[in-house]
Amino acid sequence: MSVARLRESEWEIVEAAERALADIVPTLSRDDSGVITDLKSVKKRLAERGLGGIDIPAEHGGRGASPLAQALVQFLCGYYDVDLRDSAHAGHGHLIVKHGSDRQRAEWVPVMLAGGLVGIAATEPRGGTNVRRPHTVVRRAPDGLRITGTKRFISRIEEASVFVVFAREEDTDALRAVLVPADTPGLLRTRLTPTGLAGWSWGQLDFDDVAVPPTAVLPGFGEDAGWIFRSHFDYYRPMVAMVALGGAAWVFDHVVQGIRDRVDDGRISRPRDGALERLGRAHVALQSALLAGLAGAARNAQASPATHAWSAAIKAHGVDTAHTVVSDLMPLAGAEVFQRHTHVSKTLRDVRGFTYADGVHDALLAAAGRELMRTAVR
Ligand SMILES: Cc1cc2nc3c(=O)[nH]c(=O)nc-3n(C[C@H](O)[C@H](O)[C@H](O)COP(=O)(O)OP(=O)(O)OC[C@H]3O[C@@H](n4cnc5c(N)ncnc54)[C@H](O)[C@@H]3O)c2cc1C
Repeated sequence: MSVARLRESEWEIVEAAERALADIVPTLSRDDSGVITDLKSVKKRLAERGLGGIDIPAEHGGRGASPLAQALVQFLCGYYDVDLRDSAHAGHGHLIVKHGSDRQRAEWVPVMLAGGLVGIAATEPRGGTNVRRPHTVVRRAPDGLRITGTKRFISRIEEASVFVVFAREEDTDALRAVLVPADTPGLLRTRLTPTGLAGWSWGQLDFDDVAVPPTAVLPGFGEDAGWIFRSHFDYYRPMVAMVALGGAAWVFDHVVQGIRDRVDDGRISRPRDGALERLGRAHVALQSALLAGLAGAARNAQASPATHAWSAAIKAHGVDTAHTVVSDLMPLAGAEVFQRHTHVSKTLRDVRGFTYADGVHDALLAAAGRELMRTAVR
């Protein structure tokens, strides 16, 4: 078994990210649900500190750090606020970094490095678990390509500079990934109100015969985009787990500090054994899920054959663990944190959002099980 290690320069990036978050986050304004009101400016400010392309390869202008370093930064971002999930991360921009043509990378990677966002539009009103058979259609027209259809429950509909849209090619039935710049005529947005992960806008995208050039297909017409979707989420899902676990780790620290304060100021004489046991359980659950998340990110860097099973299961396990820890520990902090604006209450809503975003867990765990059956060795 090989051991993944961070280089000195990668530790420096992680430490710089922590310093930047410590400087910036306390100064941010929030609405009455505790949600940061201008996440886009945070992303820009982090990009100005060189945190826009941490694990984008150096030949494309990024810092060239490993997914393991990025995973640690994701944990830190979640610790400060789960909504910072792609504030120091190219996020779905990796679809373009890894699978784009030279021309597409030349156009969009500089946008990402400057703090621009890339959205992904895969889910449809009929369901998001079956991305392979979308009803959104891309067809060839004399003047290029035309896209028609509806995507729903999409994050970043108002902030993204460009969307990677998964659509079915009319003639061949193949799945295509098509780049649609946010200002393309015929692209219509309708906002929906989420209960969590509300920092970025969220809602529906309608494509009313939207025209894009043939060069907008990622990475070209030759190949079905199913493998692009899979390979991207194999990389991305451990990152999601790390953000959710960061949020839960903050709640853990907050609850421990609250109990300590009550002992110190005499409100309670000592913590009850039941509370201590809950803390012990939560701690080991967080630590083991974190190790799994880091192993998933490291495994991804090494392109192991079992990556798909690991990534799907780690996302489900990491987010479920974070959700359980936050729900279990909340009562220890009393009704104070049941108020909507509190960071504990917000974190619970955000972590719950992750039980849908980037894959529902029953489907992810079933995908992991299928992969394990396929690769089982007698
Ligand atoms: C905060 C948030 C952000 C999001 N951001 C994005 C985004 O940026 N881009 C994007 O494309 N999507 C996004 N999504 C959508 C997300 O990816 C989907 O919610 C997810 O993929 C599940 O799809 P669905 O909600 O349509 O559920 P469905 O696909 O309808 O599934 C619901 C349940 O039905 C089950 N099910 C499916 N098929 C069967 C069957 N045959 N028999 C029995 N049960 C079945 C599923 O396993 C699941 O448990 C976001 C969602 C949220 C909540």
